[in-house]
Amino acid sequence: MKEYIERAAVEKIIEDGLNNPDKNKAFGHDAIEIMAEIHYMPAADVAEVKHGRWEPGNPICPVCGENKFKDLDADVWADWQPKFCPNCGARMDKEDEHEAG
Ligand SMILES: [Zn+2]
Repeated sequence: MKEYIERAAVEKIIEDGLNNPDKNKAFGHDAIEIMAEIHYMPAADVAEVKHGRWEPGNPICPVCGENKFKDLDADVWADWQPKFCPNCGARMDKEDEHEAG
């Protein structure tokens, strides 16, 4: 599983390392300390964004394989093109590979 960390928090750790007034420390030693601090910082609670694209006339999400009309009245919602898959949350913003170029 991928882990995500906060950019600003990493920049702060590196900045603190660069501003370390202890001039006797070799740079390599500082880099190892910075690496250790980044390694042990808590991972952010985020999920990777998945991308897909609704195919015309096909209600099946290409990412999770679920029907977007699951639990809905398909007649009422027939033209519904949600920006996100209601089942897995994939973003439906992918370019059509046939038109792209
Ligand atoms: Zn889905």
